Amino acid sequence: MSAHRLPPAEWQPLQSLLQAGLPQAMLAVGESGSLVGQYCDELQQAALCFAPSAPGLSCGTCRACRLLAEGNHPDLLVITAETGKRIAIDSVRHANEFLAYTPQVSARRWLRLEPAEALTTAAANALLKTLEEPAARAHILLLSERPSQLLATIRSRLQRLPFPAPRPGQCVLWLEGLGIPPAAALWLSRQFANRPLRAWQLWESGWVTLCPTWIDALLGLPQQGPVAALRLADNWAKDIDLLLLRELMLSLLADLLRLRNHRLDSIVHVDYLQSLEAMAQSAQAIFLWEALEGWLRLPESLMQNRNVGMLLETLLLSWVSIWSGEKAHGITS
Ligand SMILES: [Zn+2]
Repeated sequence: MSAHRLPPAEWQPLQSLLQAGLPQAMLAVGESGSLVGQYCDELQQAALCFAPSAPGLSCGTCRACRLLAEGNHPDLLVITAETGKRIAIDSVRHANEFLAYTPQVSARRWLRLEPAEALTTAAANALLKTLEEPAARAHILLLSERPSQLLATIRSRLQRLPFPAPRPGQCVLWLEGLGIPPAAALWLSRQFANRPLRAWQLWESGWVTLCPTWIDALLGLPQQGPVAALRLADNWAKDIDLLLLRELMLSLLADLLRLRNHRLDSIVHVDYLQSLEAMAQSAQAIFLWEALEGWLRLPESLMQNRNVGMLLETLLLSWVSIWSGEKAHGITS
């Protein structure tokens, strides 16, 4: 699902790769929502296109490009796992079979698998055999946010693609280029400097208008205490997008840490500066770090099939404990 094509100014790394000849086993590293996913989209399109146009990227009009646009290209297999879910061995067995056949439409078969760290050990081992001896014209692209979590045997088989790191100021320009009003683009880019695609998704989902309600509830919580935290957890558990809440919490916690260090230049939630400053002063550092760790660990906690309601209770209690100084009840690790 590519929201938009990369602007031509960003094509150079792709053109170099295509000219040099594509490896059969590739690794792309980048945060979800960063432009790395976009680079991979462009690369797989160019790799499957019949007649890449003069600059080297896909033509957009040939049969392969049309099949890709329709999501029907028989030589492309994409395996993804939602956050907190694993990629099981059955999916990899299916992928291995897919790669063994000769291409039907394009010059090669293409497997894309993301995030690679979601592979179970059995699935990773099943993939390893194919990585060691890929069929002729089979290409395998793994995307990973945390390549250190991959099996070393897998990692050593992959050639890492040289996609560029995000540049300062790139995100806000990119968002404005998509027609997002400058103030909102700036606000989003403060939070998602390295992840413009994520910022764009959030803009599309209406999060920019929803966010203030969540912030008000969260900033009021320390004064109201643990009972209110449990009530809010109960309310939110029904329908809140926990990972979206995580984005917000991480940015609030980062703001508190910045304010404690008198770094006013990079505050995300400038509209709440006064409240956040007061809260930063009275926060207890050790509990601040504990809360931060809890939110950082959330994807792994979800992966262990933890109950969402209980997770949320623990996380909101640990947020309140930053100011009450009492260890949150029910924290298990
Ligand atoms: Zn084409």
